[in-house]
Amino acid sequence: MAYKVTLIPGDGIGPEVTEAARRVLEATGVAFHWDLAYAGDGAQDLFGTPLPDYVFKSIRENKVALKGPVTTPVGSGFRSVNVALRKTLDLYACLRPCKTYPGAPSLYKDVDIVVVRENTEDLYSGIEFEEGTPEAARLLELIAETTGDAVREDSGFSLKMISETCSQRIVRFAFDYARAHQRKRVTAVHKANIMKFSDGLFLAIAREVAKEYKDIEFDDVIVDTLCMRLVRRPQQFDVLVLPNLYGDFISELCAGLVGGLGLAPGANLGNDIVVFEPTHGSAPKYTGQNKVNPMAMMLSGVMMLRHLGETKAADKLEKTIAQVIAEGKNVTYDMKPNIPNAKVVGTSQVADAVIERLRELKNT
Ligand code: NAD
Repeated sequence: MAYKVTLIPGDGIGPEVTEAARRVLEATGVAFHWDLAYAGDGAQDLFGTPLPDYVFKSIRENKVALKGPVTTPVGSGFRSVNVALRKTLDLYACLRPCKTYPGAPSLYKDVDIVVVRENTEDLYSGIEFEEGTPEAARLLELIAETTGDAVREDSGFSLKMISETCSQRIVRFAFDYARAHQRKRVTAVHKANIMKFSDGLFLAIAREVAKEYKDIEFDDVIVDTLCMRLVRRPQQFDVLVLPNLYGDFISELCAGLVGGLGLAPGANLGNDIVVFEPTHGSAPKYTGQNKVNPMAMMLSGVMMLRHLGETKAADKLEKTIAQVIAEGKNVTYDMKPNIPNAKVVGTSQVADAVIERLRELKNT
């Protein structure tokens, strides 16, 4: 029986990397029925909105989606398709494994970090007050009245909210993940020394939840210290659990540690829905050039295969991608950043090479 999966090509480089991932997933022999759904620029042109209702309907029905990146216009217009999807479907956990494959352009070996990012609150809640508006003035008054502090009148506000409920469920998610994947330690990341009522709450909840998981080690680290320690010796970290904003930054940092955005897969998970998508965005300047690395999208497909219980196919596909990386002959430009005039191939040729290796595996 074919798995019914919502396929969202996205925009920018999205359609190219999604097509490459679709092709290699099909080459594993697992059957898919792709339910094509447009979001982003393409949907704007077709339906007058970047996020039509039928996208939600399709994901809710299929419970699994493979999604390419979608551009977020800066400063104006639609806030963000990605944030809207995550909030509306309550995809509260963002899972981003960052692992070094031999041959990847990384300064490090043996990095294997899993970033678990809270996806629904913190500074991304979208509750903001524009400078100079009556609402901002009311907030200024409230702050002056309740704290005695004077905030500059020409300030704009973006609210950082961290709740007990969301902290509990993301920390539990991280521990459950660690247990299910034979991981040893969960590290909570915060800035509780400064933000006592938001990050402080997150840390207090993490410490409480940790008591329920005696088989997994627990510790915590301040986010700035984490950055320094990650760059010095990333191998010391296992599973990191973070509020939304730090999760965003640290998952890109970890992507950089293992060879760049072209190698960083991900998934957004709710209670019964999962949307698989790479960490990278739509890289608009490379649109339509058959240039960028599709491996992050392919590795998101590997995560999807595991989620569907297709472990053998997932192992086979991951092994094949690792082989192509190690051989270094059919890789995109980002895999040879320090080699001027290196011979590199395009997005679709990487897919061809992976498919070729999958066929060879089948015939052995
Ligand atoms: P980006 O990740 O799109 O690209 C930054 C740079 O990283 C690119 O210029 C390119 O040099 C490199 N890069 C990214 N993906 C690559 C790949 N697959 N192979 C090789 N190199 C790659 O980040 P950005 O430029 O800050 O964002 C562009 C747009 O994407 C923005 O509108 C942003 O909001 C959006 N975005 C969407 C998502 C998503 O859909 N989940 C995630 C992040 C950013």
